[in-house]
Amino acid sequence: MPKAMRDVVLRGLEDRFTVHKPYESADPQAAMNAIAGSVRGLAVSGLKVDGAFLDQFPNLEIVSSFGVGYDNVDAAACAARGIMVSNTPDVLTDEVADTAIGLLIMTVRELPAAERWLREGKWAGQGAYPLTRATLKGRTLGIVGLGRIGKAIAARAEAFGLTVHYHGRNKQQDVAYPYHATLKGMAEAVDTLMLVAPGGEETRHLVNAGILAALGPQGVLINIGRGTVVDEAALIDALSKGIIHGAGLDVFENEPNVPAALIALPNAVLLPHVGSASVATRDAMGQLVADNLVSWFETGKAVTPVAETAGITRRS
Ligand code: NAP
Repeated sequence: MPKAMRDVVLRGLEDRFTVHKPYESADPQAAMNAIAGSVRGLAVSGLKVDGAFLDQFPNLEIVSSFGVGYDNVDAAACAARGIMVSNTPDVLTDEVADTAIGLLIMTVRELPAAERWLREGKWAGQGAYPLTRATLKGRTLGIVGLGRIGKAIAARAEAFGLTVHYHGRNKQQDVAYPYHATLKGMAEAVDTLMLVAPGGEETRHLVNAGILAALGPQGVLINIGRGTVVDEAALIDALSKGIIHGAGLDVFENEPNVPAALIALPNAVLLPHVGSASVATRDAMGQLVADNLVSWFETGKAVTPVAETAGITRRS
């Protein structure tokens, strides 16, 4: 365990494995170097795992990663070395979908600013908070990445009376929502974009100035997926010039650093990456990190392998 993780992960591992915690040492890299040759499994959270990192561990069999997004792990490099990669899907889906809908309503109805109005004494001093120019009613929601979380968001959005469209690399046969082969086409057809696609090079800056212009002045952008999917400089420009109406963001390009220009914008609602951040859900994710390691070494199969390494089996 190169970096400290939730107690539930340690509890799931310590009675079955020798768990090395180099982060407890005064010189973590030296502690890591001393044990690297014997390491067969890694439990990681947000740690950058690339080819050079993997080269330290000649006997590594599995990287068990905390979180459903694993853009921090070079899964192709792991696959090339015959190393299994697992993530923690499903157990966080409802929590993240709830957060996404909360963030959407906060943004459209300006709830954080309205709450500040009360706390700052303006309700009693100046009167009612100004009426919001936007409403959730009648909105058309375009989901970018209609996967596990995207579908859970779609179900909630339908209950709120929204019309749902989606964009992804593939049209899904078992889904009736209108499909858009291009993001530009969808941005022109909807007034609300919900980003819930993975990070990584393939989705980098998918949402750029052209997409924001296509979304238009009534447009609301919500990003619950990964910060790298949005060109943040283009978004700041679009928000400050009224090219779109507002944005709600749970994720950022360079976390935990959020540009001052974004923080200064009144039409942006900003959350510190809390999509899955309840004790219950983070514990369920931690348990799955441990379960993947236990299953791999007991049965030769991971519980939740990522797509790139799904075909890998244990060598010994
Ligand atoms: P998932 O089931 O794998 O769904 C991902 C969806 O994205 C799929 O429908 C996929 O459809 C689409 N997609 C993949 N590449 C794409 C591309 N290049 N362009 C457009 N669409 C693309 O994953 P999930 O469990 O729903 O999680 C989705 C993401 O949410 C994670 O990867 C993570 O980054 C993010 N997340 C954020 C938080 C948070 O705290 N804010 C928490 C959990 C997850 P196609 O294959 O058809 O393209």
